[in-house]
Amino acid sequence: MTKGTGILYVVATPIGNLGDISQRALKTLAEVDLILCEDTRHWRKLAERHNLSTKCKSYHQHNEEGRTQEALSLLESGVNLALVSDAGTPCISDPGYRVVNEALEQGFIVSPIPGVSALIAALSASGLPLHEFQFLGFVPVKSGRRASFLKRALDSNMTTVVYESPYRILKTLDVLATEEPERTIFIARELTKKFEECIRDSALSIFDDFKNRQSIKGEFVLIISGLGKKASNSE
Ligand code: SAM
Repeated sequence: MTKGTGILYVVATPIGNLGDISQRALKTLAEVDLILCEDTRHWRKLAERHNLSTKCKSYHQHNEEGRTQEALSLLESGVNLALVSDAGTPCISDPGYRVVNEALEQGFIVSPIPGVSALIAALSASGLPLHEFQFLGFVPVKSGRRASFLKRALDSNMTTVVYESPYRILKTLDVLATEEPERTIFIARELTKKFEECIRDSALSIFDDFKNRQSIKGEFVLIISGLGKKASNSE
């Protein structure tokens, strides 16, 4: 049963190129009463680019409990809300879970306005089998947990997609190159941005390439092909 008239829209925003936002997303963001955004300064850049003047309030991991209660009261009184994160789709390794879950638990309508997500963008250009795949989120920081996490990916028959930071990508590539030097991996850096780079090769070749770079910058999606998928014969 749904109740009240307020709707919570979950709106995907760009991951780099500010043009990557749908017309429906822009219309929704212009028409709702309030936008809950991960970072108000970050949101303003997108708002300025698209002439959006809708009121916004922060919603992030440090205030989500209080903001969720506020959001539920607003929905109850018929106010329409949009949830956005700094990049891509809210709730995908980003804030939003609590307000979406509690809005549903309390019977409000939650409506997705789909768009970009870094993991889907990377998968779409990977040329790896995608009839099934697993997304494991961010690679853990600590080396023991990183090793078991990557083993889970390497031991899977499915294509695995993960997020990794520029500070740790080399360590992660090192583990993959050591464990399975011939396994095909795909690395997507700075998707939709000026220095976008997508490479598909063996774990060892990609590790050697990154090891020899003077600096490693940007945002990364890493895709590990399923068991038995070698670089020379990845299908
Ligand atoms: N909600 C976002 C989504 O739908 O993709 C993900 C947010 S998560 C906090 C940020 C991570 O996503 C980055 O550390 C990186 O791994 C990946 N990412 C975001 N933008 C990216 C881009 N332009 N190119 C490559 N990876 C990106």
